[in-house]
Amino acid sequence: MNLLYEQTVRSSVECKGVGLHSGAQVSLRILPAAAGTGIVFRRIDLDDYQVEATGRNVAKVSYATSLMKKGVLISTTEHVLSAFMGAGVDNAIVELNNLELPILDGSAQPFIRMIQTAGIRQQRRKRCYLRIRKEVEVREGEKFIAVYPANGYSVSYTIDFPQPIGQETFEVELAGGSYMREIAPARTFGFLSDEVAMRNMGLIRGANEENVIVLTQEGPKNGPLRYPDEFVRHKILDLIGDLALLGKRLIGKVVAYHAGHAMHTALVSRILKDQSVWEETTIEGTRKPAAASLAYAQTSIASAD
Ligand SMILES: [Zn+2]
Repeated sequence: MNLLYEQTVRSSVECKGVGLHSGAQVSLRILPAAAGTGIVFRRIDLDDYQVEATGRNVAKVSYATSLMKKGVLISTTEHVLSAFMGAGVDNAIVELNNLELPILDGSAQPFIRMIQTAGIRQQRRKRCYLRIRKEVEVREGEKFIAVYPANGYSVSYTIDFPQPIGQETFEVELAGGSYMREIAPARTFGFLSDEVAMRNMGLIRGANEENVIVLTQEGPKNGPLRYPDEFVRHKILDLIGDLALLGKRLIGKVVAYHAGHAMHTALVSRILKDQSVWEETTIEGTRKPAAASLAYAQTSIASAD
């Protein structure tokens, strides 16, 4: 991945699908955007109303992350945002003709494939990173999430669910192709025993065995899993998508225990609220781009000004 400059998609790509919670049919189109745009959602069913993917537009967060601006909702944003982050796309317009992103296969893989089909184009603007300078910790009961200063972007996540999941920990350094290999294919999951309660809350109307790993006490009902620890990997996928709402790529080490969308977005607000804990930086230009990408984890990162 190019580290120095912002990137967008080369051409537009589209897909159709169903929203996980709304069950609504939706068409989605990803389009190139100018440097400095960030990721912007556009409701083409509502006069092209635009909602920027930033922390200040975070709305209701429980089983998925939703953005809202002046009453216009964009629901379940985390998987597509995670894919943009993983593929190194800084700027794009995401058009949709309904309120919820399509769930597709429940992972970020279909979005990654779309981005690969579109191609990636390097832009002229230097990418601005958000580098953590002081730790930020958020605790709620036994739930915990924190970010610490580090030289790259890494995530360590621990989940503790009832059987058949139990405790799982996974750690990933988001350099090279690790997101594509280790994280993007991990799918959403849910317990069969929660299904009725969730449907009664108006949730998971679009869920089926093609887009959610359905768990019973004995194990996955619609196996096989893509990884033995697919569940914790999916939580990392969600976390990366939620942290994309910082609006800039993070340089820091994120540690999460038993967290979820609410904790992820709470961390985003805490970081954005306190400018003393971070600084904006660019990665100092080396004349050897290949070496720079290999060394993302250890590379020296200098302040912008
Ligand atoms: Zn998810």
